[in-house]
Amino acid sequence: NFQEPINEPYLQYAPGSAERKVLKERLKELKQEEIEIPAIINGKEVKTDRTQDVTMPHNHSHKLGTVHLCGEKEVKMAVDGALEAQKEWANMPWQERVAIFQRAADIITGPERFTMNATTMLAQSKTPQQSEIEAVGELADFLRFNAWYLTKIYKDQPYSPDGMWNRVEYRPLEGFIFAVSPFNFTAIAGNLPSAPAMCGNVAIWKPSVESVYSSYYVMKVLQEAGLPDGVIQFLPGEGADVGEPVLANENLSGLHFTGSEPTFNHLWKTIGNNVDKYKTYPRIVGETGGKDFIFAHKTADVDRLVIAAIRGAFEYQGQKCSAASRMYVPQSFWPEYREKLLAEVKKIKVGDVEDFSNFMGAVISRKAFDKISGYIDYAKEADDAEIIAGGEYDDSKGYFIQPTVILTTNPKFKTMQEEIFGPVLTIYVYEDDKFEETLDLCNSTSPYALTGAIWAKDRYALNIMADKLRQAAGNFYINDKPTAAVVNQQPFGGARRSGTNDKAGSMVNLYKWLSMRSMKETY
Ligand code: GLU
Repeated sequence: NFQEPINEPYLQYAPGSAERKVLKERLKELKQEEIEIPAIINGKEVKTDRTQDVTMPHNHSHKLGTVHLCGEKEVKMAVDGALEAQKEWANMPWQERVAIFQRAADIITGPERFTMNATTMLAQSKTPQQSEIEAVGELADFLRFNAWYLTKIYKDQPYSPDGMWNRVEYRPLEGFIFAVSPFNFTAIAGNLPSAPAMCGNVAIWKPSVESVYSSYYVMKVLQEAGLPDGVIQFLPGEGADVGEPVLANENLSGLHFTGSEPTFNHLWKTIGNNVDKYKTYPRIVGETGGKDFIFAHKTADVDRLVIAAIRGAFEYQGQKCSAASRMYVPQSFWPEYREKLLAEVKKIKVGDVEDFSNFMGAVISRKAFDKISGYIDYAKEADDAEIIAGGEYDDSKGYFIQPTVILTTNPKFKTMQEEIFGPVLTIYVYEDDKFEETLDLCNSTSPYALTGAIWAKDRYALNIMADKLRQAAGNFYINDKPTAAVVNQQPFGGARRSGTNDKAGSMVNLYKWLSMRSMKETY
């Protein structure tokens, strides 16, 4: 099917709905089964002698399974197998290749819909609605729209004057792609190896160990859809154990990464150090951190701005690269805004995501919990900041952190600058007549440029804001929250230190995984 797809509609899981019942049933089944998560190399399950427990963030004593961790030996097996698989995969008619991923999307939105949702809820502590949006909707959209974009790319051919036939072949890269995926989005995890593979590449996929449970189910869907053995090799493991041998391999042809800035920097440097040995210059595509802003002008709609901050900062516990984490509010409506915002924050329910009424679950791990609570403690002690909502945390059952709002008089306060990756929003109140200076501050406060939102009813003010913050966000929102980009609607990616800005789910991204052969024939 090479028609233009539409975005997958979401189920709502309203109380009393049939879908809620089925999802609850699936959650129950999955929680009773403790599974073993092997590596998948050349289509076969591979168990290693190093394992780790897989638990749930919102109930860390509940074991979902055990994961087998890979190292140098498995990497060698996986790379050899992938290079062998590439011989046929790269030369397969592209329509057949692409059809496998379209079939995977149909499995995700069809028979395995509730499995995709439930495994993401359990592994990443996402609410059913947030899981539906990404582990079902966004993942299927990535697969379907990338397939559609490829049909357009392959069709694009150069001009041929009389007596000549010019053409281009969009070949895959020679070698293999290293796909390194983050814990926070199952959709991103699935897209990172799939996008290059769809173009005819083979991939070594290292999912995050923290969310390996849901990534494993994505891998199983790809296999069920008919992905040939060896095209995507599933290699759970610690960063260095898998990453070092992969990057030292002369056949590395690309890196497709989403994760933290320090990790991306490390991978980039390693690739740089190895550059003499590679057969081809690896393509490097990465999305890293964000310090995403909401900037309000005095004409902003106060009530809508409250909802944007709540959803932007606290959905999925603030663990989106796109999450609103710093906010600029004009003095003139601050008292009213403060009151309304705090009233809404108070209503937020934090707890077990399997209780469908909670708005927030737990943060991903103890490490994340310690880091985020460290920032909260720092703000508690500081002279130039105060916590005006939340500030409590409790890890006795799960890694729970209350939605926290920090008010600071210092626009360069630590939590205005550094990525926290948790439910913490810092607000700086500016004097209305310092509008333009504060925009400059916003622009220069963080090294990142992933997402940002500006708010005003006044059109002139919007233009000033959009202009002054020109380079401050790869995804820029006007009178909206800075999160929840939709495939084929807002291609996603950041500039500056937020990554290479090769928008996920776009033609720009796919071109990275293609190597053109330009051919001229005369007669
Ligand atoms: N695409 C997601 C959004 O727009 C964020 C992805 C990320 O956290 O990397 O909210």
